[in-house]
Amino acid sequence: MAQFQRPTLCCCRKVLTVPSKSCEGGQGLGQCRLVDIASASNFHCFKLRHFHLDLRLNFAVKEITGWQVLELVAIQPGVQTLVLDIHPSLLIHSIDCKVPGTTGAQDISPSLTYRVDPFTDYGSSLNISLPASVIRLHRAFQITVRYTTTDGPAIWWLDAELTCGQTRPLVFTQGHSVCNRSFFPCFDTPAVKSTYTATVRVPEGVTVLMSASRSAYSKQDRVFQFSMEYPVPAYLVALVAGDLQHVDIGPRSRVWAEPCILTCAVSKLGGSVERWLNVAEDLFGPYVWGRYDIVFLPPSFPIVAMENPCLTFIISSILESREFLLIDVIHEIAHGWFGNAVTNATWEEMWLSEGLATYAQRRITTEAYGEAFTCLETVFRLDALHRQMRLLGDNNPVSKLQVKFEPGINPSSLMNLFTYEKGFCFVSYLSQLCGNVKRFDSFLRAYIEQFKFSSVVAQDLLDFFLGFFPELKESCVAQREGLEFERWLNGCGPPLCEPDLSAGGVLTGPVQSLCDLWASEPPDPEAIANFNLSSWSTFQTVLFLDRLLDRSPLSHEVMGQLSRCYSAQLDEMNAEVRIRWLQIVVRNSFYPDLPRIRGFLHKHTSRMYTVPLYEDLCSGVMKCFAAEVFYQTQARLHPNLRRTLQQILFQTSALPTTTSVPSLLHPTPSSPSPTPGGQPGPADPPTTGTIALRDVNVSA
Ligand SMILES: [Zn+2]
Repeated sequence: MAQFQRPTLCCCRKVLTVPSKSCEGGQGLGQCRLVDIASASNFHCFKLRHFHLDLRLNFAVKEITGWQVLELVAIQPGVQTLVLDIHPSLLIHSIDCKVPGTTGAQDISPSLTYRVDPFTDYGSSLNISLPASVIRLHRAFQITVRYTTTDGPAIWWLDAELTCGQTRPLVFTQGHSVCNRSFFPCFDTPAVKSTYTATVRVPEGVTVLMSASRSAYSKQDRVFQFSMEYPVPAYLVALVAGDLQHVDIGPRSRVWAEPCILTCAVSKLGGSVERWLNVAEDLFGPYVWGRYDIVFLPPSFPIVAMENPCLTFIISSILESREFLLIDVIHEIAHGWFGNAVTNATWEEMWLSEGLATYAQRRITTEAYGEAFTCLETVFRLDALHRQMRLLGDNNPVSKLQVKFEPGINPSSLMNLFTYEKGFCFVSYLSQLCGNVKRFDSFLRAYIEQFKFSSVVAQDLLDFFLGFFPELKESCVAQREGLEFERWLNGCGPPLCEPDLSAGGVLTGPVQSLCDLWASEPPDPEAIANFNLSSWSTFQTVLFLDRLLDRSPLSHEVMGQLSRCYSAQLDEMNAEVRIRWLQIVVRNSFYPDLPRIRGFLHKHTSRMYTVPLYEDLCSGVMKCFAAEVFYQTQARLHPNLRRTLQQILFQTSALPTTTSVPSLLHPTPSSPSPTPGGQPGPADPPTTGTIALRDVNVSA
């Protein structure tokens, strides 16, 4: 059994690792450094059994005040210091320590000495001196930290104007990847899991939800209580509070949203969620979290969706794009098994969560909607992967599944399509090796059963795979020339092979035919008229538009023809379709359709739609137009997004999007705005010449 254990020093003695058989001098398959957490120096000295949060939310001053009780056991002798991850936005008031169930003076230490040291631009180190009289090997003790936290990277306060209803403020947290150190002191690594409970006090009329398996509300005291009875890593602790109401949509599911969008949200999902859960359970075994609820958040939510256990967070902007909503919710459901139940032990191997969840999502859609639909969605995403590859070049380390970053790197910068799609291709390759997709389903069921509620490294998955299929181990599939597991994990560049997607031909074929017609000189209007976009699915239309965008610049004549054929029709479609047409308009400087861009940017205030359009507008000749629209709409943008757009607008050089690539090997400069977890890295640091978000857009 290769279940995750406490990390130890790597055999090269230089870096902390999670144990793995192949960790040889820090170079092996399972070598995993923990350079992103201040607590790396000592978290292996303790077992975190549980923690409790007692919080009061103050919307008027945008503060969370309260205390946290950590229940710990020293598992190494002679431990004198406890190091936790925090953030400069989190102010410590006092720390004390006691042994639970005792009252003797020797078992209580009312005021501990502590020190806060700088660590990186995304966190600090809280060093607590432990009293020798209290700390004994294998004896439980409690540390109570009283603190106040304001508006750090994890905590997003929305004034009423930024909510859907525009009548009451709202606050939500977003922990992925390393943001929750600004929410509560923690071992901010996916390697450490524990249960938690919380008590949250709020003003009247505010509803609080957390990523917890149980909740209760005392109306008299206006206190919400939560309990997560299954162990989770720090980044999966999440809270949202505001004017939220719910409707039950299944035996274990409810939709939460602000009242003004609740009916719409329920109508889009009612009946489907329980069906998807059932399909997933048939494939991967029981859903272990009890509830599966969904909360729709205002457009300021910085990513598309987040797989917080028991309570998926999802952006309300996606409601109008039915197929994207479907894919995003199914993807978050898949995380219930892959990512949440079994978690990547370090952020350097995020593909273990995202690649497997993407594979699982596609198994679910294949069962629920057929192979053709799933292949179409996969083609669309692999197209995006190859687009990203062209921008990055073949040797960019961002394209490795197993990234090794230096101290100071913010793991959020790892969010890219490789994590998802190259990871998916590797998992598909493993599935192909065992010869039968159903056999691979049973392997995944066994993998979840073996590792659930723990954190793993790639070596654990691969060892278990080869153990499950001994005939594959005997035939040395891990060393098959050109397709070595090691090369999959540590090689730069595109996937070594991609799954057969020919079953999608019935849907992708017409898309390619229409693209080819538009590429011929001159385009034949009669042949083109045979294709009716309104009969296509959203994924067909976005695939068509993405492929047209790839062929830009287009001639002015072709743009005029395209606009006459499609512009009005596309304007009636959903935002995922419209933004793609508008990007074609911008990249080809097609002025007649500028009013449509203005209309779109006045309506859509989410990061996922504004950033790519502003990047395109500012890298071309439409910067003045962009500035004008920005000034008209800025009051309705979240301050973090406003700062990002200002950076795009006021950067001095407007370089084409191919000139700069994100680097994982060097820290990014401090960002003036909090880095939203799960957001692709290039979005928040200064965006000079970075890749358009549309090209790397991912849902967490
Ligand atoms: Zn995901």
